[in-house]
Amino acid sequence: MEGFQLSGLLYLVATALFILGIKRLSKVRTARSGNQLAAVGMLLAVVVTLVAPEGQVQLSWTTVLLGLAIGAGLGAVMAKRVKMTGMPEMVALLNGFGGLASTVVALAEFWGRYEMHHGDFVGPNSPADVSNILLGGDIWAVAIVLSVLIGTVTFTGSLMAMGKLSGKISGNPVLLPGRHLLTAILLLGGLAAGFYGVFAAEGSMATTLLFTLCGAAAIFGVTSVLPIGGADMPVVVSLLNSYSGLAASMAGFVIGNSLLIVAGALVGASGLILTMVMCKAMNRSLANVLVGGFGESSSGGGGGGGGADEYTGVKSAGPEEAAMILESAASVIFVPGYGMAVAQAQHVVKELGEEMERRGAEVRYAIHPVAGRMPGHMNVLLAEADVPYEQLWELERINGEFKTTDVTVIIGANDVVNPDAIENPQSPIAGMPILNAHESGTVLMIKRSLSAGYAGIKNPLFERDNTFMCFGDGKGFLVDVLSELKES
Ligand code: NDP
Repeated sequence: MEGFQLSGLLYLVATALFILGIKRLSKVRTARSGNQLAAVGMLLAVVVTLVAPEGQVQLSWTTVLLGLAIGAGLGAVMAKRVKMTGMPEMVALLNGFGGLASTVVALAEFWGRYEMHHGDFVGPNSPADVSNILLGGDIWAVAIVLSVLIGTVTFTGSLMAMGKLSGKISGNPVLLPGRHLLTAILLLGGLAAGFYGVFAAEGSMATTLLFTLCGAAAIFGVTSVLPIGGADMPVVVSLLNSYSGLAASMAGFVIGNSLLIVAGALVGASGLILTMVMCKAMNRSLANVLVGGFGESSSGGGGGGGGADEYTGVKSAGPEEAAMILESAASVIFVPGYGMAVAQAQHVVKELGEEMERRGAEVRYAIHPVAGRMPGHMNVLLAEADVPYEQLWELERINGEFKTTDVTVIIGANDVVNPDAIENPQSPIAGMPILNAHESGTVLMIKRSLSAGYAGIKNPLFERDNTFMCFGDGKGFLVDVLSELKES
């Protein structure tokens, strides 16, 4: 009994560390320590779960340690190998693994009961059947179904998102005919099979029905991400993040682990808040997202627009001219985007910012919530380069400042500065709040060509009178600008 109370108390400490960690993650300045706090909480949770006398571990220590070694080894190799540009895909993959883990835990628990009853599952209402310390059998059975459903949807949905982010699967929305009907059949059919399997079926039929649920959920995961394309992907990435938390929480109910329930709910809730932030950034309603109706209208132009032949009157500037423009600037805003991540230009951007400050200019960095390929992508890169936090300005705060700014330097951003979003109601990204870079005195837009961004649409900013296209790799171009400035 004492052991139980101690582990409960330690679970509470771990939960408090998770909550404090998430709270600190909400500010750039405290994010690093927030991450460390949450990691300590997770270590505590793992250790307590493994050593607590009433813990669920029924495996030998050799098996546990072997599992830990394989998992930690693979994780360490992947983390070491991944390039900074591959981070969004890796995050999507890890999300998916979270979902898969929940499915596997639920299935293993279910089959465990078969064994308990010598291969004959007696249904969740049998008193002998309730091994779960938190729940009665009915809720346990419901938790099995939901854990398998949400976990599997998260797994295949995340693999699709990973494919779309890496460009291996087309980023354009793919609209299957009758997809709403298909969605309804998959969801209702899968749920019916799952519930019948856990509540009423006997023998191997129960297993077959649970596999049917897995199959339906796996297809549903694929078909729900397929229609989403172009600029709408951030919403789906954060929604899948939330799903993985919900699946973990359900798995917590399945194995009767209160900490997993709470930790999963925290991930689910914070993922949902992030989804709402992303919806706001994309000007979409959450209801629209939840019924899977997004993508249809918004990204019709995905991949099709933005060819070089669509532009007229484009002016370009080389590093020397760009340096001359910057020389006389009293205020500069840097707008980083996905291309900065590709070029790994964050360090030279910071150096250029410092050089401008030395010359007496006011320097700020404008952060769009969906810039890059994952939530917080630009914050992570700029923090890595030690850009002072007070120079990072969020969209709402900086947007009024462009009008009075001499030069805006855009490094590999495209969709997040596309004025069509606010000026052209026909645009696929109409209504999406953008950084109003076009309002500043001069715009230096650094990218390699006139090609489109992730949304695949034309960007009229390239043709504006106050824009100079600076063709080149983000890092290489800025290195040249910096050396020109230092020589002058
Ligand atoms: P974009 O994808 O709109 O544009 C990036 C630009 O970077 C490209 O046009 C490319 O042009 C340029 N680029 C690529 N490599 C380099 C390089 N080495 N040097 C210089 N430029 C380079 O990026 P944004 O950040 O503006 O917008 C993000 C987009 O991604 C939005 O549509 C968003 O919805 C979507 N998205 C965001 C996610 C998130 O969570 N943040 C997740 C999934 C999608 P060129 O080839 O000519 O160099």
